Amino acid sequence: MKKLSLFAIIASSLISCSSSQNKSKSENLIETYAQTINAEELKEMLYIYASDEYEGRKTGEPGQKKAIAFIKNVYVENGIPSPISENDYFQEIPESYFHHGIKASENVLAYIEGSEKPDEIVIISAHLDHIGISSDGEINNGADDDGSGTVALLEIAEAFNEAKKAGNGPKRSILFLHVTGEELGLYGSSYYTNVDPIFPLENTVADLNIDMVGRVDAKHEGGENYLYLIGSDRLSTELHDLSEEINKKYFNLNFDYTYNAINDPNRFYYRSDHYNFAKNNIPVIFYFNGTHADYHRPSDTPDKINYEFLETRTRLIFATAWEIANREERIKVD
Ligand SMILES: [Zn+2]
Repeated sequence: MKKLSLFAIIASSLISCSSSQNKSKSENLIETYAQTINAEELKEMLYIYASDEYEGRKTGEPGQKKAIAFIKNVYVENGIPSPISENDYFQEIPESYFHHGIKASENVLAYIEGSEKPDEIVIISAHLDHIGISSDGEINNGADDDGSGTVALLEIAEAFNEAKKAGNGPKRSILFLHVTGEELGLYGSSYYTNVDPIFPLENTVADLNIDMVGRVDAKHEGGENYLYLIGSDRLSTELHDLSEEINKKYFNLNFDYTYNAINDPNRFYYRSDHYNFAKNNIPVIFYFNGTHADYHRPSDTPDKINYEFLETRTRLIFATAWEIANREERIKVD
């Protein structure tokens, strides 16, 4: 770490002191806990999660079982409970639910109970699976897709947990939902919404879905930090406005809504797990960095992730979830 002069330390503490006096308590809390999310931890986890040992995390295969064990372990180590039953973090999806010879698989769930409105649930989701090993034997590590979303979700959970431990728990409950079978047809999220919603869908306030947030696409190469947001204004104007406000206030990322256009030919709105929630009239935001040359190839590796961007994007999603979970009234569908 760079050395600071005594003068710099005094000056900076004076500045932070005077600025904190002008901020609301909630703003201070958001900034404090967002800072627990950091590039080093994201990187450390992603280098494990997207290593060859996990064999591309194909649904139902041994590499995917290693992935769920890794995720569960992070929750156990942090003392973040499962909503299913004590120490059982896996929502088992039987082989019969899948097609084309896919074997039984698991979603991984953890949650933090709300302090004031525990029955209202905010979901943050990311898919845990990827596409496995190519026919020529090359491993698809899926560092961006969706190792980036997976480690982001874990860091967000840790940030909320730190807040809760200090008595600053969210008013509403938060479900950290790692879904399986995304690459093969959004199986894990459809199992959750259609077969076994652990919490009633009518009590589910929103789903923030994170799928590929660690890279920079060709359009934004060399530019400032950005994110594509998809779906934010489709069911709730309030969600869209809140998301914009949080960004402007704390992060100022360049939000790109290109893929949110109703007639966008890529149809990304229908292509990741948030769609199973949107279908059920639950407001969603899908966070995405766009595709790149390494998309669904063995070259989607952790050395190509922009960890500084990933850190800020993760903090943004955390702050947005914080606002949804803590604001006085539940966000409205309109
Ligand atoms: Zn994905």
